[in-house]
Amino acid sequence: MAVVVMKFGGTSVANVERIRNVALHVKREVEAGNKVAVVVSAMSGATNQLVSWVREASLLHDAREYDAVVATGEQVTAGLLAIVLQSMGLQARSWQGWQIPIITSGAHGSARILDVKADDLAARIHGGEIAVVTGFQGIEPDSGRISTLGRGGSDTSAVALAVALHADVCDIYTDVDGVYTTDPRIVSKAKRLPKVSYEEMLEMASLGSKVLQTRSVELAMVYRMRVRVLSSFVSPEGMEPVRIGELENIGTMVCDEDQIVEQQVVSGIAYAKDEAKVTILKVEDKPGVAARIFGPLADASINVDMIVQNVAPDGKSTDMTFTVQAAELPRTLEVLKAAKSDIGYFDVKASADVVKISVIGIGMRSHAGVAAQMFKALSEKGINILAISTSEIKISVLIDAAYAELAVRTLHTLYGLDAA
Ligand code: ASP
Ligand code: MG
Repeated sequence: MAVVVMKFGGTSVANVERIRNVALHVKREVEAGNKVAVVVSAMSGATNQLVSWVREASLLHDAREYDAVVATGEQVTAGLLAIVLQSMGLQARSWQGWQIPIITSGAHGSARILDVKADDLAARIHGGEIAVVTGFQGIEPDSGRISTLGRGGSDTSAVALAVALHADVCDIYTDVDGVYTTDPRIVSKAKRLPKVSYEEMLEMASLGSKVLQTRSVELAMVYRMRVRVLSSFVSPEGMEPVRIGELENIGTMVCDEDQIVEQQVVSGIAYAKDEAKVTILKVEDKPGVAARIFGPLADASINVDMIVQNVAPDGKSTDMTFTVQAAELPRTLEVLKAAKSDIGYFDVKASADVVKISVIGIGMRSHAGVAAQMFKALSEKGINILAISTSEIKISVLIDAAYAELAVRTLHTLYGLDAA
């Protein structure tokens, strides 16, 4: 018997019929004797609709009221799933964030979970009741107000609840049957990874693979909670219930790297289209310049990713190139304009027609030459690299958007990921 947290995303609860399908997945686990807490997202599209109503009401709005509105999507699905489970003769009740409670920080709209006080809920599930919990939301205890965790936050709700309940596994049900070596829509030979390490998943999540919210992976890594990515679109009857010790047969298990026996050098290739490149022309090449550029950007909460500084051919001035999220480009340009006299530069050039392609693998720690291979393969296809950044387990290059698919395919083949 296991304690299982099952999380279902928006497409899995898109309508009442899909919610019935979710209930069958839950029923399977309960009938196998497992103790179950379910975390649900809003019906697909619901949160977008709520956000757009808030913006329509006023572009400048109280973040606490934004949370009051957008948290309702999950309340609907939690109640509906509890009703459907009850109609199948199962014991179930819905829980909102404040009822558990899930305690968060006061950063409305992107609050962090500080604590999950799950004693009451734990007692109920151990007594045989199914807990259906709203994802995405919690309560800020000082003001007693509802908070939300940022878009995609239900994944984080699920992992936090799994940690609080000492669950054996946190199963994240979605519309894909696992994490792939790359986007299967681009590379038809992309393969499902049976296992992926927390570190790799963190890189993949933050690099644009939208399967899990980055914060949920961070939380899972800190608490060593095993997370599986599974599809809710396979028949509920055709799936085996969770059995401790036999969790690796389906989906993708996100786990500790020493639980992965056959480690590839590169395990996945990610791409992010929402990057923009900014080049500041002719800044002085002397101490303090980078601080004068990136200080005001940091103050404006603009996240800078890749940074390249050229050498100064004349020993006096140089160019500085960096990337930001494309959505942040207009604000970035404003900040740079306002700081122009302080920074001291000739001009700024920007382009959003770029993509960032990244190869990821913990095997890189012990293998030399992964980057060199990558640069050679790209150059043989005539693909120009605009910027490079690396970490211990990742190499990212910025290239022209037109070459994105070619680059992903080339690298997928290069690192042996095409092989059956
Ligand atoms: N419903 C929220 C969103 O769309 C949270 C989630 O689905 O994870 O962002
Ligand atoms: Mg999601």
